[in-house]
Amino acid sequence: MELMGVTIRTIVNDTVAIRCDGCREVIPGTPWRVNLLDIVSPEVAVGWDESSPLNPGPHQFHSDPACVRRWMAEKGYYFCRRGEIREIMRPVALPVEPPAWGLCDGIHRDEHEFVPA
Ligand SMILES: [Zn+2]
Ligand SMILES: [Zn+2]
Repeated sequence: MELMGVTIRTIVNDTVAIRCDGCREVIPGTPWRVNLLDIVSPEVAVGWDESSPLNPGPHQFHSDPACVRRWMAEKGYYFCRRGEIREIMRPVALPVEPPAWGLCDGIHRDEHEFVPA
């Protein structure tokens, strides 16, 4: 018995695969999207210029804070350890040299504690 005219259905998802901004691996399922808020900061240091524009995102990751931290480290961002990594992060211009951005969820009420991501 011959099997002629059999259609092999191959579902190719690769072209639409979403890759994690942290580890660059394909994200199965729903990515974790992180947005950076618009910069409205009274904490901008004197002399801060527009040389380091932030990409507001959304940036897409595996649902693992380690992937987000890795991305932040690559970008040279600081992470506020008083906060947590959430879908929406608030950027804070840090008065360090060279200038850097700190990211915080903005939920805690006390001082930020920025550490390199
Ligand atoms: Zn990842
Ligand atoms: Zn904070």
